[in-house]
Formats: sequence, C-alpha cells, structure tokens
Amino acid sequence: MSSRHTWETTILRAGSFRLDGGSMFGVIPKPVWSGWATPDENNRIRLDCNCVLLRDGERTVLVETGYGSKWSAKDRKIFAMEDRTVIDALNEISIDAGEITHVILSHLHFDHAGALTLWKDPDRGDAGGFVATFPNAKVITQARELKDALDNRSTMTRTYLRSHLDPISDDFVTVEGAAEPLPGITVRPVPGHTWGQQAIHWSDENRPYVFPGDLCPTLCHAHPSASMAYDMEPWTTMCEKVAFLEDCVDGDLTVILGHDPDNPIAKVIPPGEDRARHGLEPLGIG
Ligand SMILES: [Zn+2]
Repeated sequence: MSSRHTWETTILRAGSFRLDGGSMFGVIPKPVWSGWATPDENNRIRLDCNCVLLRDGERTVLVETGYGSKWSAKDRKIFAMEDRTVIDALNEISIDAGEITHVILSHLHFDHAGALTLWKDPDRGDAGGFVATFPNAKVITQARELKDALDNRSTMTRTYLRSHLDPISDDFVTVEGAAEPLPGITVRPVPGHTWGQQAIHWSDENRPYVFPGDLCPTLCHAHPSASMAYDMEPWTTMCEKVAFLEDCVDGDLTVILGHDPDNPIAKVIPPGEDRARHGLEPLGIG
C-alpha cells in the first residue's frame, strides 16, 4: 500500500445554486423529501458545486468545475446562482487557472462542466465568444459522455451547452469504461443519470476516496429511490447506487458529494439492526 500513488486532496466550494426539490428527489413524495432538504418559496433546494483539487507534486488535477461564470441574469435568477466560481476557490488557495494540468469530469451537465470555458469579453457576454478557463489542461471524460453531450442527448435541452465544449474540443481526452487516466486516479462508469457518467477514485496518504457525481449528489440521496427527474434511466441509477454504496462499505471509501450544501465529505453506513438500508453520515474533515 505504501507504494501507491497518493494525491494531496483539497475540497473546493465552487458556488451554490438552487434546483427544484421535486426534480431533485424524483419519485420521493414532497412530505418526505421536504424533511430532508428545506425548500424555498419557489420549491427550490440549495445545492453546492463541490469540486476537488488533487496534487502529487507534478500535476494539479481538478475534479469537476461547477457552473462557472457565463450565465445571463435570467439564468442566475432561475437557479439562484451565487456569484462565485471554482476560480474564486482556487484563488483563495493561491492556485492560478493556468496551473491546472488536468480536469476530470463525472459528466458534462452545466453544473459540472460550465466552468470549462469563460466569456472572452465579459462586457459582451455570449456575443464575444468563449475561451478555455484552464488553458493548459487536458479534460478527461468518458467517450460516451462527450458523444452524448455533442449530440445533446439529454432529458434537458440546455445542459449540454456547446459553449462549454466547442472552445476546448482539442483538449478532451476520452476514456472508455474503467481506466486509470493518471497514476493512482481511476474512473469507472456509473450510468443512469447520464449513460456516460463516471465515478472517480483516488487516495491521499490516509484514505481512499470516491467522487460519484450525480449518482449520489447529496447526503439525502443515499435512499435507493432518490433518483432525479434529470436522470436518463432512474432504474439504472437505483441499481448502480446500491452497488456503489456496497462498494463504499467494502472498500472503506470516503465519499465526496458533488452537490451537498453542508457536508461534502461522508462515509457510508451499512444496513443493520437499527436501519433497513444504507445511509450516508457526514465526516467532519476537510
Ligand atoms: Zn448532472
């Protein structure tokens, strides 16, 4: 174990936003989910974009980017987007966007891939065109995910936006299935939310981690029925999630939750005498 390639791990808070609570919990009735996450007057619940910075002394890797900055006032209002991005989080720990060597994405929806690009001229907005946020980074995702994003195969019409993808089309490095795109960083497919979604695994000196993307976005999503209206295949999500939670117990994995607003780091609790199914418990480490 001591020879395993380890990564210094830092959680980055890349901005909060709000999505419809009913959409976030799929078939779970509101009287149940509203006990887990308090909706606002528009039925929305708060979510954060939690990204991860991984450093090994040679490479600086960003897992996920959040929604980024190139949104209209109308979009910002619909989604209650905080005026904060992953760039703010990186600057707070004195990292420049140019230092990022790789970006690894669970999938390419707007709240995960939006910050791959920036407005070239903020005063002109979309009309001025777009540039890469991380000009020196390779962007790693599943080949299936990139194809579906380019074909806009989604239950949503405005999540796989070309403005996130086309300006950096030469920077994508795609993998197919389980792979180790960087030393000690492995990815594996976890379909359901999208067909090409992947989970990302790595270790620091103390523990193994997994980032499951939107397979399990918050502490409240450990329930197998807590799929999302945004999922391409809710049944697949349910099956993949149960297998994922079992893997987390078997491997003693620490889970980084991509959208939990309060507790991005968690541990899976197995079913037992006092609980019928897996749960997620926050870990007070950062
Ligand atoms: Zn998503």
